[in-house]
Amino acid sequence: MRYDLTPEQAAFKDEVETFLREHLPEHVAAKVKRGAGVSKEELTHWTRTLNAKGWAAPAWPVEHGGTGWNLVQRHIFDVACRAAHAPALSGFGFNMVGPAIIKFGTPQQHAQFLPKILNADLWFCQGYSEPQAGSDLASVRTRADKDGDDYVVNGSKIWTSGAELADWIFCLVRTNHDVQQQKGISFLLLDITSPGVEVKPLYAFNGKRLWNQVFFENVRVPVTQRLGDEDKGWTVAKSLLGDERLMVSRVAENKRVLGMLKEAVQQQAQRGVVLPDDVQDEISALEIRLQALEMTSLRILTEADAGSQIGAEPSMLKLKGSELVQAQDELLFRMVDHLALAQDAANTGEAAINPAWAEFVASGRYHHRGYTIAGGSSEVQHNIIAKQVLGL
Ligand SMILES: Cc1cc2nc3c(=O)[nH]c(=O)nc-3n(C[C@H](O)[C@H](O)[C@H](O)COP(=O)(O)OP(=O)(O)OC[C@H]3O[C@@H](n4cnc5c(N)ncnc54)[C@H](O)[C@@H]3O)c2cc1C
Repeated sequence: MRYDLTPEQAAFKDEVETFLREHLPEHVAAKVKRGAGVSKEELTHWTRTLNAKGWAAPAWPVEHGGTGWNLVQRHIFDVACRAAHAPALSGFGFNMVGPAIIKFGTPQQHAQFLPKILNADLWFCQGYSEPQAGSDLASVRTRADKDGDDYVVNGSKIWTSGAELADWIFCLVRTNHDVQQQKGISFLLLDITSPGVEVKPLYAFNGKRLWNQVFFENVRVPVTQRLGDEDKGWTVAKSLLGDERLMVSRVAENKRVLGMLKEAVQQQAQRGVVLPDDVQDEISALEIRLQALEMTSLRILTEADAGSQIGAEPSMLKLKGSELVQAQDELLFRMVDHLALAQDAANTGEAAINPAWAEFVASGRYHHRGYTIAGGSSEVQHNIIAKQVLGL
């Protein structure tokens, strides 16, 4: 199957690429390219640059500051941004809680949160997982007990990415203990600086502060900060990703990594370093897998744009996209071995593996390990496919 961009889509792609060339700060793109994290200030600046253009929230409705783009346009935008090494905006605000506030929030909540998310004036983090609730999320135990006009929250959330940078946290809390698990959960928006909230760091095996554990002790949260009805938080949580469920194929990130892989091979060829044939074969195989993934994504996005019902497709896209980026990481890692040998053999005095490239390989490999766990593990995606597609 071929999927050629229409002339309008090609013009749109050009417009996005031109904007990126003119506005994305070079030092930020360079950091993203070598896998280093960007600072909160840099991400805030980039978010505001996109917001000024009206492009910060491609998925939001126009009346709330979105672009009105369809899914295919959003895919084109995403791929162009990753190819230019633009940093991804905060997914918690733009892809998760923002759309949920739009759908379930009161007009007062719209006014309070949406403009601030768009302009990076307010950063959210996600308080779903708990020490005893991960894949089985409905078993959350953090409780919120009504006391006058407030809830009093007690419990703990874990694996909370970015809590150290966030101003607010959105949480699933138990408000009813006497009903089926899913029917006793509410969705709260909580100021993380409230008295009784404690954020403790959790470090990944690369030494980076990747997560936090957040503790709540008698934290008072006004009832007006509940999103959706009481005990109906599961409905909010399920719809939270909305259309974004379909943007999980990680095509853009895969393309970025493949681009780096090919660039590295080319650079070594220019230096006269000969890599084993199987490296080239594997790159071709990975590229074919990536093309198949992109074709499938575009096909599904086009069908969704035309109004088709979406079932287990996001699970398939997430599974394939996260496995593919990890396979690319493995090849990059193996190349480090080959190049280390070549470095000795060539004896040119010039390092075949320069530190920036090694940093990119190592940090990407650590970072991407989480892709097959976060947002629903691969085993859970297999279960969904087995049930919904194979009828097992
Ligand atoms: C990089 C990263 C960032 C994260 N950020 C956040 C965040 O910001 N906020 C947040 O709330 N959470 C976050 N998480 C947590 C993430 O959502 C959970 O790790 C995930 O839901 C899995 O839950 P768990 O870790 O408790 O593992 P468990 O659910 O205990 O699973 C353990 C193992 O059992 C398998 N398993 C579980 N159930 C089944 C089943 N029914 N059938 C077959 N196998 C099964 C799983 O696949 C896994 O291999 C993050 C995780 C990662 C890796």
